[in-house]
Amino acid sequence: MTRSAELFDRARRLLPGGVNSPVRAFRAVGGTPFFVARAEGARLTDVDGRSYVDYVCSWGPLILGHAHPAVLDAIRAAAARGWSYGAPCEAEVDLAELVRRRMPAVEMVRFVNSGTEATMAAVRLARAATKRDVILKFEGCYHGHGDSFLVKAGSGVATLGLPDSPGVPQALASLTVTVPFNDAAAVEDVMRRRGKEIAAVIVEPYVGNAGFIAPDSGFHAALRAQCDRSGALLIFDEVMTGFRVAPGGAQERLGVRPDLTTLGKIIGGGMPVGAYGGRADLMRMVAPEGPVYQAGTLSGNPVAMAAGLATLRGTEVPGFYDTLERRTERLVAGIGDAARRHGVPVTVGHAGSLWGVYLTAGPVRNFAEAKRSDTALFARWHGAALERGIFLAPSAFEAGFVSSAHTDADIDHTVTALDAGLGQALAR
Ligand code: PMP
Repeated sequence: MTRSAELFDRARRLLPGGVNSPVRAFRAVGGTPFFVARAEGARLTDVDGRSYVDYVCSWGPLILGHAHPAVLDAIRAAAARGWSYGAPCEAEVDLAELVRRRMPAVEMVRFVNSGTEATMAAVRLARAATKRDVILKFEGCYHGHGDSFLVKAGSGVATLGLPDSPGVPQALASLTVTVPFNDAAAVEDVMRRRGKEIAAVIVEPYVGNAGFIAPDSGFHAALRAQCDRSGALLIFDEVMTGFRVAPGGAQERLGVRPDLTTLGKIIGGGMPVGAYGGRADLMRMVAPEGPVYQAGTLSGNPVAMAAGLATLRGTEVPGFYDTLERRTERLVAGIGDAARRHGVPVTVGHAGSLWGVYLTAGPVRNFAEAKRSDTALFARWHGAALERGIFLAPSAFEAGFVSSAHTDADIDHTVTALDAGLGQALAR
């Protein structure tokens, strides 16, 4: 028995499913998860001494790779000054200024501890500002596990094929309207019928929680126009895309200015940080400046702020995003070619270093089309990839991430391994 298997046995007695976040349990791909002993650069090493090229990257935060020396130094230096004050610190102001500079639409910002907190708070603020209750979201988009968002949600909900979660009051779920991603006509239809009830349209501008789905050109401009017409706020959930798909996130890449933005992952460099921000007139409604309550014992934590600052500063070297995008393109092109050589229908896509592969003939423009992916073949492929030292997200409905620690050699090695792994998966 491997040490990972032993740990998983112990874990299952105490932690639901043996994990603290559902997709980690490998249920969608079979087998049991490996337990990580250490991580450095593009690689994870498990407790049995096996090493993997990592395309999960902590589900997105680690754009510089694991244990990046500059981030490590910043964390060490911050921790040495004490790691939680319950009073303001300079790094909060530094990080707020940096975010504002990179995302001009984020005129003011509030730091929280996770993406879930950020989206919950943003929707509360939108409801308060518009004095409306309904939110519109897109099928397969995941905005954290807040009650209002567990309606046709992506990520683990999609991975595990769960219906909307029990425990979410029907009264609350009924305030969430869903339409297919990339369906501007469906949005228009909802807006025509219920526009005056809708507080906000919340969207992952590039979907990363149903696999990777790119928006049609003009889709977000249409959302912007619909929101302007109806008085609803446009919320870009950039927890995954923020500082990932471009220096200024999806809003820069798409040229659309949301009213509110939610952030997470990279902004904390792998420490627990989220944020919501946007128009100053809206953010001034947040306590203590305004009446919309939201607070956090550990919010603005000095060590987390230091990790976020060092990570974002690490992305400010010239050519950083171009190099990452080129490497990611090389990866997805290689995977696409390999699949086609094996005669497997495939759709690959990426924006910056956020990428995805569906084992189905495209195009994949929404969650219904994503679900045509051959999940059984993906599961076997995932296992074969692991045996070859490649760690892909353990679900056909999760995006992948490339970090600046992934070299061209890593990418080429990965493509070769995935090619062979696919051959093995087809033979099984
Ligand atoms: N929004 C999006 C777009 C996400 O990808 C995620 C997490 N994957 C969340 C919100 C929730 O963030 P967290 O897991 O930090 O609560």
